Amino acid sequence: LERSEPNYFGAGPAVLPTDVLQQAAYDLLSYEGDSVGIGEISHRSKPAIKVIDDTKANLTQLLNIPDTHEVFFMQGGGTTGFSSIVYNLIASNVKKTGKPGRAAYAVTGSWSKKSAEEAVRLGFDVDIVVNTKDKKFGDIPPYNEWKPLAADTAYLYVCDNETVNGTEFKSTPPADYLHEGVELVADMSSNILSKKVDVSKYGLIMAGAQKNIGLAGLTIYIIKKSLLEQANDEELKAANVPLVPIAFHYPTVVKNNSAYNTIPIFTCHILQLVTKRLIDNGGIDAIQKLNEKKAEILYGALTSYPGFYTLPVHNPAVRSNMNVVFTLPNEELEAKFVKEAASKGLSALKGHRSVGGMRASIYNAVSLHSVELLVDFVNEFAKQNAS
Ligand code: PLP
Repeated sequence: LERSEPNYFGAGPAVLPTDVLQQAAYDLLSYEGDSVGIGEISHRSKPAIKVIDDTKANLTQLLNIPDTHEVFFMQGGGTTGFSSIVYNLIASNVKKTGKPGRAAYAVTGSWSKKSAEEAVRLGFDVDIVVNTKDKKFGDIPPYNEWKPLAADTAYLYVCDNETVNGTEFKSTPPADYLHEGVELVADMSSNILSKKVDVSKYGLIMAGAQKNIGLAGLTIYIIKKSLLEQANDEELKAANVPLVPIAFHYPTVVKNNSAYNTIPIFTCHILQLVTKRLIDNGGIDAIQKLNEKKAEILYGALTSYPGFYTLPVHNPAVRSNMNVVFTLPNEELEAKFVKEAASKGLSALKGHRSVGGMRASIYNAVSLHSVELLVDFVNEFAKQNAS
């Protein structure tokens, strides 16, 4: 099974390493020499449990996850996380304080906006502590400009990398903002395993797998174990708080080693292969260095032609290393850019339908060589079309 190197810059689902897919293709047909494949066996069988355990171990090694935290997987994507996070974290807060408390959201792009809207829709008390919609989600203001957290805040939610808008957090909130007892929750769907993260600072990290590390269908959760202590159904009813739907009740999923219901084990196996490959290739330090290099050369090329390429994220300090968003002077030139790039084999560069322009997603599996080809094209196109 062969294919040519994909120079594919789509935002998700995104490319995976070819050798991982080759191995996975065999394993789908026949797993470890058996006459059935990995996707065809019971999610409670020994080989399936080993896939889950190995994937957890790989993630624990790569992200240096401390004993205070637990990794688990659930079906659904980031959007399922938007709903499950608020139910579960408020149920934990009822256990801890006897009251639901409030959920704080930093709205710095379209995904955190959606998540905050879902928490409101489900009937929880939500505070928006920062909202950059007026700035077209093109910046992340410093923490001293955010609204202070209410005293009864259960958690602060951020989207670590805004896939559509191209901003990325480069730090976590300082102790004088995130006061004692408030859990930090992050959506890392589009940058998990792309850089070092101090997991101990987070109450919860959630990430859909289909951009940086796998296929759609599986979502990774890394949770502080103390948050698995939740008010029970009677206590939630007494506090007038909705019960957590069972399929995404975190304590139940964890107690059943991520297989309370049928986990997509083939998707988990892909994650197992991707994480093993990352470990074999030098771990997070190596991939972070490579990602920084890719982003540096691409932003470097784009900023060499001011007035021709425009970066909507003006502040270089918050530009995403994963999703590089840029525009051209008009829509005709943008269409021409996308078309000519595609004719050179550089595909999926069109920006998200809600914001237009261009977006190059340069996740872990996009090679330095692919980015160099794109940089050459960025230079060539500017030279030919800038007046
Ligand atoms: N969060 C982020 C940062 C995303 O980029 C996306 C999808 O692109 C989502 C959440 C939603 O993920 P899903 O489509 O898996 O529900």
